[in-house]
Formats: sequence, structure tokens, C-alpha cells
Amino acid sequence: MSHADVQVEVDDYLVETLVPEDEALVAARESAQDTTMPGAAVAPNQGKLLALLTEMIGAHRVLEFGTLAGYSTIWLARAVGPQGRVVTLEVSEQNAGIARRNADAAGVGDVVEIMLGPAGESADRIIETGQAPFDLVFIDADKPNNARYLQAALELTRPGSVIVLDNVVRAGRVADQDSTDDDVRGVRDALALAAADPRLDGTALQTVGSKGWDGFALFRRVS
Ligand code: SAM
Repeated sequence: MSHADVQVEVDDYLVETLVPEDEALVAARESAQDTTMPGAAVAPNQGKLLALLTEMIGAHRVLEFGTLAGYSTIWLARAVGPQGRVVTLEVSEQNAGIARRNADAAGVGDVVEIMLGPAGESADRIIETGQAPFDLVFIDADKPNNARYLQAALELTRPGSVIVLDNVVRAGRVADQDSTDDDVRGVRDALALAAADPRLDGTALQTVGSKGWDGFALFRRVS
């Protein structure tokens, strides 16, 4: 059996054992096939991790960059509870429509606000309106704009908030300082920004599993 097959088998085992999905989550995950980026949703065990982080810090307000079919959105929305709010930013009308239907079907329609348009512009609009800070930010949209999204997240959070940046390993390519891949550059720029900003304390982990070899970075606003 290849390494990739074993990775999928282990993820399947872990998800079956620890991460039960109800019909709405399964439908949302499967509906990603109808989006512009099939297969780009987080794996169930990562969705559950986002929910656990949200619950562990008692987050009520969550901001997500990159909605797709709303799979991660549903995990986050259920974790903030019925009085909470998840604002999720999506550029594709097609994806936003699918996510809206999935959020409604999952019973979190009232919790989820989908802002249609380029995420950087939507984030700027939120900054201009001077809303209450977000407790958790999940950055999972177009990778070349990661640094811009991280900067926006710093404007939109408070000390104690948590920021998760997804897909930071990119099958190992992130370690190549000479990479000309825009996605890799986007990750490296964001990590450099985070490392240089005294308001952030963080780490990053490599992951293997059904989504291949990747990873995520986790930051806490310390000031
Ligand atoms: N968070 C989702 C999940 O785990 O279920 C997956 C998000 S997928 C990796 C990335 C999403 O970002 C896609 O739906 C894509 O259309 C969206 N996207 C790409 N560029 C964008 C932009 N400039 N502004 C907002 N959304 C964008």
C-alpha cells in the first residue's frame, strides 16, 4: 500500500472513530464537488479542530476568509452557538449560493453571514464599519493574499483572539525560499509578517492525511 493510501486510511479511521458527521455536514462536504474548487474543503478532523478551538476559547464571533461550500463554516457556526456569529468571505457567487443552502440545511443559517466579493475588500468594509472584534479568524482563501488577510485579521481582532492560517506546507514547497509559486510566496510572506509582529505568538504544524501533505499555522494575539 502506498504512503498516500495509508494516509487516507488513517484519516478515515480517525474520522470514523472521533468525528461523527451528521447528514448536513456530509451533504456540505459532498457539495464541494459542485463548487469552483472541488476537494478544497478542510478534512472532517480539521473541521472538528476548528470547532474545538472555537469552543476552547469561548469564541462568539468568527471571521472566515474563503467559504467554498460552507463545510468549515458549519463547523465554526455550530461551535459559536445560536447567539454567535460567523462572517465568511467568498468571491464566487456560485460557491456562496451553495454555502448558503448548506448553512440553512445545517440549522445555522441565522448564525452565518456570507459576504460576497473579494475577501480583501470585504474585510476593509468590515474594518470601516468598526464592528466588535472577532475572537477567531480562519484564513483559507486565495493563498497569494495571505499576508493581506493576516494584516486585516490583526485589525479585526483583540488580544486573546486566535488566528488560523491554513495550507502552509504545500507538500513541502514552503521551505523553498527561492520558490516563484505565488501560493508558496503568499504563505511565506504571511509567516514572515507573523514572525515579525510582536502582537502575534504562534506555531505551525505539518499534517498528513486524506488532504495530502500540508499543515496549518496557529497564532494567538498576545497584545
Ligand atoms: N474554508 C473552506 C472549507 O474548508 O470548507 C474552503 C475554502 S477554499 C480552500 C477557498 C475558497 O476561497 C474558495 O471558495 C474560493 O472561491 C475562495 N476565494 C478565492 N479567492 C478569493 C478572494 N479573492 N476573495 C474571497 N474568496 C476567495
